[in-house]
Amino acid sequence: MDHAITPTGQHDHAHCVSSALAAAEARCTGTAKLTQSRRRVLEIVWESHRPVGAYDILDRMAKDGNPAKPPTVYRALNFLLEQGLVHRLESMNAFIGCGSTSVDGHAAQFLICRDCNMALELDDPTLRKALDQAARNSGFRVDRRVVELSGVCADCQKAA
Ligand SMILES: [Zn+2]
Ligand SMILES: [Zn+2]
Ligand SMILES: [Zn+2]
Repeated sequence: MDHAITPTGQHDHAHCVSSALAAAEARCTGTAKLTQSRRRVLEIVWESHRPVGAYDILDRMAKDGNPAKPPTVYRALNFLLEQGLVHRLESMNAFIGCGSTSVDGHAAQFLICRDCNMALELDDPTLRKALDQAARNSGFRVDRRVVELSGVCADCQKAA
């Protein structure tokens, strides 16, 4: 598939996690530091390619023996969203790590599997241009560019 950012099927996920954390460390400098709680939230988001909700993150932190209060987690998620390190998927009210290395806020398209919940991130410039053009034609100013498509992923189709 063209422009797929998320690796599919069997892959070395430890590599996904380490490169995401390294990219986050590199991006968060100066006053926008990746504090310990922000880093922990990012690590939890990156445990899989399945979106996680804020309450899943709170549960996970409590299980780790490091319980956090909801505002702490929401603030960390907002910071990660602002830095472009995670995306919010409105349809699931959940968050997913961004696999793109582009620095500027990019347009993301997600293919979300309703069987296994995997969210495959695409960054297709053709699609982005077409959507921006269509919005401009309607005199619309876009400030959030996350497209969510739901269906069944290739792995789940094979398993069925
Ligand atoms: Zn991975
Ligand atoms: Zn992204
Ligand atoms: Zn699936």
